[in-house]
Amino acid sequence: MATLDLDLFQCRTDNFGVLIHDPASGATASIDAPEEAPILDALARRGWTLTHIFTTHHHQDHVAANLALKDRFGATIIGPVHEADKIPGLDRKVGDGDQFDFAGHPVNVFETPGHTAGHICFFLPQDKLLFAADTLFALGCGRLFEGTPADMWASLRKLMSLPDDTAVYFGHEYTLTNARFSLTIDPANAALVQRVADIEALRASGGFTAPTTIGVERQTNPFLRPHDAGIRAHLGMQAATDDEVFAEIRKRKDHF
Ligand code: ZN
Ligand code: FE
Repeated sequence: MATLDLDLFQCRTDNFGVLIHDPASGATASIDAPEEAPILDALARRGWTLTHIFTTHHHQDHVAANLALKDRFGATIIGPVHEADKIPGLDRKVGDGDQFDFAGHPVNVFETPGHTAGHICFFLPQDKLLFAADTLFALGCGRLFEGTPADMWASLRKLMSLPDDTAVYFGHEYTLTNARFSLTIDPANAALVQRVADIEALRASGGFTAPTTIGVERQTNPFLRPHDAGIRAHLGMQAATDDEVFAEIRKRKDHF
């Protein structure tokens, strides 16, 4: 199996655009479609022609260019069954446990409610690639617009079960703020302290913090660590459930 080529770029203010491309067939998918111009620029720079859009959820900053790109390229749009009526140009509805083929590469769909009720993530097991959009960020997770803390914690647990060396692409460059917040929750975590220093340096030089990996997030992302004894002690929540600790961390982030 040939490996996929991947192109990562900025859209809008802090959204990531991502293209994946199969050299053998020419198939090219945009993960979400935040903004037309930078996606067209990336396609032109690479000499690729768009064939697919994988939509993760209905927010405008993820679907804004769906119709324009479909018009221009005839791209097939694959997206979440449970918010299908809100996805412009949707051709194919997919839900939890579905698998489809992208140019010979299997793509598994996870439903990850919390940020929105029907949010999905795309996992390519052979390529060890996860597109987590606004469910899992580097050192963060999405805001709970349409779900409860328990919904989001269950969604994050699904993603945490993927192999540690899975590369994770996510929807927004929020990492510096997330990093500073993380230190208020898990200040004694040496791996986190080191990672925050690395992120400060990377952002100071203008680099992107995507991709991350499942393994790095499991070690350092406080939203994946409500069971951690150090975090629980720091929050004074030794006897709480994981759901309760997760909810407290999410609430503190909302007010950070
Ligand atoms: Zn969103
Ligand atoms: Fe977003």
